[in-house]
Amino acid sequence: MFATHEAADGRLARIRIPGGVIDAAALDSLAAAADEFGDGTIEITVRGNLQVRGIEASRVDEFGAAVRAAGLASDADHDRVRNVAMSPFTGRVGGLTDLRPVAQELHARLVGASWSTVLSGRFWFGLDDGRGDVLARAADITGAAIDADSSVVVVGGVRVGERVAHTDLAAAMIEAASAFAEIAEGVWRVADLDDRRHGALYERLGLRDETSPAARVPESRVGWFIQADGRVMLGAVVPLARLTAQQAHFAAAVGSPITVTPERELLIGDLDEAVADTVVRVLAPLGFVFDAQSPWTALTACTGAPGCGKSLTDVRGDLGLHVAGLDPEAGPPHPEHWLGCDRGCGTPTRSHVRVLASSDGYIRTARHG
Ligand code: SF4
Repeated sequence: MFATHEAADGRLARIRIPGGVIDAAALDSLAAAADEFGDGTIEITVRGNLQVRGIEASRVDEFGAAVRAAGLASDADHDRVRNVAMSPFTGRVGGLTDLRPVAQELHARLVGASWSTVLSGRFWFGLDDGRGDVLARAADITGAAIDADSSVVVVGGVRVGERVAHTDLAAAMIEAASAFAEIAEGVWRVADLDDRRHGALYERLGLRDETSPAARVPESRVGWFIQADGRVMLGAVVPLARLTAQQAHFAAAVGSPITVTPERELLIGDLDEAVADTVVRVLAPLGFVFDAQSPWTALTACTGAPGCGKSLTDVRGDLGLHVAGLDPEAGPPHPEHWLGCDRGCGTPTRSHVRVLASSDGYIRTARHG
């Protein structure tokens, strides 16, 4: 049985993308499944995962089979351990090292371990290639590069153990996760451990006095970036972080792996310059936004009505109307996140203005990242 969640508009399926990287064929298959079984769109989440809404209960198994055939789900017991976030530019633009091989090894080790099934769906791993962008998101366990050769493990924001070679980082993170799983006794996240179990975990892993590597809120990844190998990485957003099946099919047709970021960007890398130019010409008219000055790089929303039964209003529709009324020459506004209730789904980590629906209209409050 493929796990889905109940929502006001049908079943909701979350597709966890380890490391945020999805290959073109898998994206193409997911687009076809979203079209056939869901509402025809793929949503990008603040976790850098994907979700499909509006699936009829009677078709969940067919949808699940399509997702598994595309290699986008592990067995039911291990699907939760696909929660691995990684510096989206790693190995291509900037950073101290390329953590993509570490992400693959970490995922393989987690899926291969019987104890990992006790980790909750909220527990997640981060891989930070030294720029601080993943550390800024406070994963339960983060492997963070500190120079070109070595990394450290950060558990609940605190550095543990000795520095390790990047090639040993996945094993060191697995050791930390296994220690947590033994101690957790049903607790979901490192931050939720009581003092006794916190102490036991850090004693076992070897707390370090050294300061943990610095966290930094990332710059926008929207636009045209030159990779270390001279090729091009394109970064885009789509309005409301909703990728239509048609948009996904066209992005997949480029043939390069696509990286999904927690800032809800889509990165298409490893492109020759002429190909990148063509990709922009084809995808921009379809609604991909490659302009870092666009309001859509700064304005996000929760699902809202009608998809969410808790919402006071159609938040996405309201935000769409708001954007349509903005001066296109004015540049990107200060980041805002629009919400249909105070549960705060999809709240970004960066500083922003929370725009919360109320019976008297929207209420604006500054939130610091
Ligand atoms: S913030 Fe509230 S209204 Fe928006 S999706 Fe979450 S529960 Fe629904």
